[in-house]
Amino acid sequence: MKIGFYPGSFDPITFGHLDIIDRGAKLFDKLYVAISHNPNKKTMFTAPERIALVKDAVKDFPNVEVIQSDILTVVHCKQLGATHILRGLRAVTDYDYEFQLTNFNRRLDNEIDTVFLMTEGQHSYLSSSSVRELAEFNGDVSPFVPKAVVAAIKKKVASKR
Ligand code: ADP
Repeated sequence: MKIGFYPGSFDPITFGHLDIIDRGAKLFDKLYVAISHNPNKKTMFTAPERIALVKDAVKDFPNVEVIQSDILTVVHCKQLGATHILRGLRAVTDYDYEFQLTNFNRRLDNEIDTVFLMTEGQHSYLSSSSVRELAEFNGDVSPFVPKAVVAAIKKKVASKR
């Protein structure tokens, strides 16, 4: 059984992430979507909120499981029997960071490899940070994120005002 591990902040999950999950779910028998929990990183949504939103977005994928991760990615992969880390690539601007991260992870554990899926053109400009920024300025985020995320963003923004 081929097990994949897709780590990220997912703050919040976007259609770009979902495209990678959709295609990753076809590559692996089982795909873990691992929501990072870093208490030092300021996020719009808490880890339990991000997990709930990702769970809702992937509920129709039978082989996708959403989990929280607060340990090293390669260690978590080993624990779960995952052989591959899955990452998405948008523009060349992602490349430097991903290249460094991939090689660092391989240095930590050379049995765990990373595979990349290039995003569909329509998602290449889409990032969680752009969605958060748009939300702060009361813009319409509905073209970029699932319905449940739109509602959660509205609630979050209203609670801050
Ligand atoms: P991180 O904080 O680790 O960058 P993100 O949640 O922003 O976490 O992203 C997780 C992964 O999803 C990364 O590999 C990132 O490149 C990828 N990703 C994010 N947005 C998109 C998108 N629009 N299309 C394809 N991949 C994406």
